[in-house]
Amino acid sequence: MDAATDTLFFKHSTLGMVRADYKMRITAVNDAFTRITGYSSSEALGQTPRMLSSGKQDPAFYAQMWASIENDGFWSGEIWNRRKNGDIYPELLTIDSITYKGDEHSGFIGVFADISHLKNGSSDLGYLAHHDPLTGLSNRLLLSARLEKSLELVKRNQAKTAVLFIDLDAFKPVNDSLGHTIGDSILIEVANRLSGVVRQADTITRWGGDEFVVVLDVVNSAKNAATVADNIVEALRAEPYIVGDRSVYLGCSVGISIFPEDGGSGEVLVRNADTAMYQAKNLGGNQFCFYKQEMTEAVQDRLLLAGELRGALEANQLELHYQPQYCVRTGKMLGVESLIRWQHPEKGMIPPDQFISIAEETGLIIPIGTWVIETACQQARKWMDTGSLITIAVNVSAKQLTDRNFCNIVETILSETKLPPHLLEIELTESLLIEDIEKSIHIFKSLSGLGINLAIDDFGTGFSSLSYLTQLPVKKLKIDRSFLRKIFSKKADRKLINSIIALGHSLDLKVVTEGVETVEQLNYLRENNCDLAQGYLLSRPVKANNLIIQSYDI
Ligand code: C2E
Ligand code: CA
Ligand code: CA
Repeated sequence: MDAATDTLFFKHSTLGMVRADYKMRITAVNDAFTRITGYSSSEALGQTPRMLSSGKQDPAFYAQMWASIENDGFWSGEIWNRRKNGDIYPELLTIDSITYKGDEHSGFIGVFADISHLKNGSSDLGYLAHHDPLTGLSNRLLLSARLEKSLELVKRNQAKTAVLFIDLDAFKPVNDSLGHTIGDSILIEVANRLSGVVRQADTITRWGGDEFVVVLDVVNSAKNAATVADNIVEALRAEPYIVGDRSVYLGCSVGISIFPEDGGSGEVLVRNADTAMYQAKNLGGNQFCFYKQEMTEAVQDRLLLAGELRGALEANQLELHYQPQYCVRTGKMLGVESLIRWQHPEKGMIPPDQFISIAEETGLIIPIGTWVIETACQQARKWMDTGSLITIAVNVSAKQLTDRNFCNIVETILSETKLPPHLLEIELTESLLIEDIEKSIHIFKSLSGLGINLAIDDFGTGFSSLSYLTQLPVKKLKIDRSFLRKIFSKKADRKLINSIIALGHSLDLKVVTEGVETVEQLNYLRENNCDLAQGYLLSRPVKANNLIIQSYDI
């Protein structure tokens, strides 16, 4: 092993570790060594491991041990040692001889686990048979024993048990490129971080490879399990894994099953937690998911819908509806927002919330998004040709912006439809902007260079720093309808709307409020100088043929 891995092993392992040179002088010990033996590193350095001798083993035992190290390069077995306070205790010890170039660097590494708790307790289980040699965590056998026991207990108390199945995201490429020794040291570190997150009573198991299972013995509610799962996700990804001069970031996916809802036996619970883990992975990893029967069905439904969506564009099943935006002061209709719908041959009209995310995951959002802009621009040009100059807004998702051709596509559509660019408006959600502000600024500048207007959708939900607003060529803010809904019950939401309007105006932006459903809401917006309003009160989204281009008179 190299020095870097060495350091990591030593520092973090829960196993006691001691390194000695070829003359058997101790050159390094780790924290666990001190915890188990009671000797600090300064007391141990320069001594030989005989300082721990209990006198329980006879010379023949040691002779055999050394013969085996000489012949096989290692020895492994149980041995009794003595702590600084005089207690003797059993440990499971492995000694490896290490040979580097030149005698002065050669020596031995001893790794040991204190197994007194197993010997002292009623348990007569063999340590090796029940533990993972790398991490010292329990193995599958011990897990199933503990899990069955815990289920028995929980049944009597009418409580719940949660099984968390954890799988590291993208561990394989790390393991393949950095080597298995480093991979192993990362797994040890993962085991330590897991131990730091769960309660002592909970069982952590190395299931195999980069998979771990945590059993939360008694949980009051599924929500508690979610909190632990969230802490695990956070603990594994928050800090990088330091290996030598590199730092590697790793996330994990966690699946949760709950007893008794999700299975009556340990085996079923683990299997279902595993299924849920795949769900978390499918959603992009770095998160947790619950197992539910409906969940599995939901995954299948989504897959089916994704397949059908592929053909929907060609089959002309997608259509745009248009929802007018009115000037609050004059009541004049100034523009429309295009909103996509899917006319499914069997399921009827499917709203965008149910398929836009599928389109994003499958990449279909690129052709669909292009179709939306094209159709919207054609429509706006038709209105223009009949004498109505109205702006047309389209919603664009983050995935579309990552397409390098996006600006070119928009430019081509504008020139083919002969729509004056200032009539096209692109709506982007606030959360999307904050994710990568530098990149957003760049793309926004190219788009506004084409003469297009930009609007920030769902404004107020992102809780971002507002300084980005001054850096972006934005023309409009759209206040999320969740704030409007509560203006008469929540003073905070009223204040928020007023501040957004004031903020928008101070930056020379127009402010639109969406989701206007009542006359009172509209009056409120008028009194508070909001520029534009959009909502069911004034008009629902409608097909182009049904759009009445006229002022409202409320
Ligand atoms: P959004 O951009 O926030 O659109 C406003 C949503 O609020 C629309 O739902 C609209 O029908 C609804 N709405 C308007 N007025 C009212 C009202 O007074 N009361 C209530 N309760 N709702 C109102 P819709 O059409 O279902 O669209 C949902 C979301 O789907 C949109 O939210 C937008 O994020 C996304 N979306 C729609 N079309 C497209 C598209 O072409 N491309 C992309 N990427 N996303 C789209
Ligand atoms: Ca929108
Ligand atoms: Ca919105």
